[in-house]
Amino acid sequence: MSKFIFVTGGVVSSLGKGIAAASLGKLLEARGLKTAIIKCDPYLNVDPGTMNPYQHGEVYVTDDGAETDLDLGHYERFTNAVLSKDSSITTGKVYYSVITKERRGDYLGKTVQIIPHITDEIKERIKKVAKQNDVDITIVEIGGTVGDIESLPFLEAIRQLRWELGENYALNIHVTLLPYIRSAGEQKTKPTQHSVGRLREIGIIPQILLCRTEKPITQEQREKIALFCNVDVEAVIEALDVRHIYEVPVALKKEGLDSLVLKKLNIKLQDRGLKAWEDGVLKRVRAPAKEVKIGVVGKYMSLQDAYKSIYEALAHGGIANNARVTILKVDSEDLEKNDPRKILKDVQGVLIPGGFGSRGIEGKIRAVHYIRENKIPFFGICLGMQIATIEFARHVCGLKDANSTEFDKDSKPPVISLIEEQKEVKNLGASMRLGAFACSIEKGTRAFEAYRSGKISERHRHRYEFNNAYRAALEEQGLVIAGHNPERDLVEIVEIKDHPWFVGCQFHPEFKSKPDAAHPLFKAFIAAALEKGK
Ligand code: GLN
Repeated sequence: MSKFIFVTGGVVSSLGKGIAAASLGKLLEARGLKTAIIKCDPYLNVDPGTMNPYQHGEVYVTDDGAETDLDLGHYERFTNAVLSKDSSITTGKVYYSVITKERRGDYLGKTVQIIPHITDEIKERIKKVAKQNDVDITIVEIGGTVGDIESLPFLEAIRQLRWELGENYALNIHVTLLPYIRSAGEQKTKPTQHSVGRLREIGIIPQILLCRTEKPITQEQREKIALFCNVDVEAVIEALDVRHIYEVPVALKKEGLDSLVLKKLNIKLQDRGLKAWEDGVLKRVRAPAKEVKIGVVGKYMSLQDAYKSIYEALAHGGIANNARVTILKVDSEDLEKNDPRKILKDVQGVLIPGGFGSRGIEGKIRAVHYIRENKIPFFGICLGMQIATIEFARHVCGLKDANSTEFDKDSKPPVISLIEEQKEVKNLGASMRLGAFACSIEKGTRAFEAYRSGKISERHRHRYEFNNAYRAALEEQGLVIAGHNPERDLVEIVEIKDHPWFVGCQFHPEFKSKPDAAHPLFKAFIAAALEKGK
């Protein structure tokens, strides 16, 4: 039977709870345990698929096509946990299912209430994941900050679970902040005391505190926190700011987090260290041999989280090539007003990520025009691949009004358009082409060179497609259809010859890249950019 670790957060949001949970997963896996990770998000949306990136950051997609929180991306990058639609539990999903059951009459005349009906639903969903995957440890991260009204049903559910399971089977970890007051030259423990106090009011007593801090914690402070918060001194774990998030598992290990967790859950296992991670990832992150600068052209450039997996996968491509990747964030609207030659003058490669809506599209097309003609390595992902197709149609095939029907309904010709089934879609939620689909790759292409395989599977999240009616015309002028979906004959990868590296894919390879196993396309793209920089 799986044991459970519940991770809550206090004081402020953005404490890096997701990275802490993922790092803990990594540490436990390194000890030989099989883990599952669940994220509970206390919003009423069923999933974040229809949310604006400014609200939510990136939408992460699993193999089974769930649109989820970006923390699931951290889990997949740090651990081998298999994630699915069940790994993400939102208030929206929980209420949707309880209300559906109520309408069906499942509750047999009872008054349906938050306790026990909503909390039971949450508990069942958590237990289902643990059981399905037959894991040793299930880590459950509760989104939001303790004290929020929204997260109360989740907190109540985990309170009940810990009570039912007993102390060797469940553990509460609370992530808090020790703010440093510069003018006083002091680090404050009061917000942590209050946050733990709030948890105790609702019956949750954390056994471990992960204290985020920019300065090391003194022994005296550790003792003070332990005394006020009812934890052992050794359970006050310092989570000091680190230079790179991949340092977090190692930093937490130094503080003894994994040993402490195992002790509290009464699990005896040898410590096998984190050598592979240290050698394969950290050495190269700390002191890479090379440098490369990549331009990312998008529309949410001020928001670090909007292209989270893209930035991560670029870093992985760097690690695989022993290079540090610096990113020039380019707002595509700037490319509409200013000369791409100036803006992109010192990048060795350009990536255009996924996106929706017409803002900034012409700027992206201008960028591709410049990149293609100037032979700068190019990687287009989803929307980026569609842009590359439009640019090629306009400037190589002479179809000067080519467009996607997403941006111009009457575009002539519509080289990117909706397939029939998408034309019938009425509800926007969970109705895109989502999740893993097969792709066959042609020999002799950049993609084949990168994957070293003709059969792959990648994750999708889009409505529009390469319009096969124009396939022959574009191919005739030199566009290479390097990959297609064998069941539906949908174009998945486009390339151009006579260019150092120009690849556009309809899927999202960034979701499957890991620090210690860079995605083949990202690895090949960075290698091409390094070559360009020579
Ligand atoms: N907007 C495009 C579509 O729906 C691309 C989507 C994406 O880049 N994720 O097809």
